[in-house]
Amino acid sequence: MEVSERFEQLIAFLGSQLPAPVEQQTSDDGAIIFIGGAPAEVVVQLDESNVIVFEYSGAWETDGFVVKPRRVGLVKWRRLSETAVMNAVSTLIKGAREMRLARYRSCSCCGEKNAPELLFSDDVCHRCADEQRDIVH
Ligand SMILES: [Zn+2]
Repeated sequence: MEVSERFEQLIAFLGSQLPAPVEQQTSDDGAIIFIGGAPAEVVVQLDESNVIVFEYSGAWETDGFVVKPRRVGLVKWRRLSETAVMNAVSTLIKGAREMRLARYRSCSCCGEKNAPELLFSDDVCHRCADEQRDIVH
């Protein structure tokens, strides 16, 4: 298979492996960035030689929310067979997602699981925190 065909195949494969909805962007240097899940769970960067898988992560800083994905693995896709690439990438995506979901916390008010950056404090989500503020006013 031609390299360009394999690239197209990888794009389709990543779209099918990531948790939905999948958002696709192109970075300034031409790499394709896939962000899967809502809230985001896994980020994958694909360029002409690498597939890089990240666990989605971010934190609130003084300037607002800053996205800081944690890299979990890089695969040199042109050096491996299609099957080996797909198996490796699929395993990395599963692993990254598992780590991300393990960080979710249940809100002590509504009981819903939330991504860590959506929690107002250790165990109260933003929505419940807002409601509590409304009651006080
Ligand atoms: Zn809540």
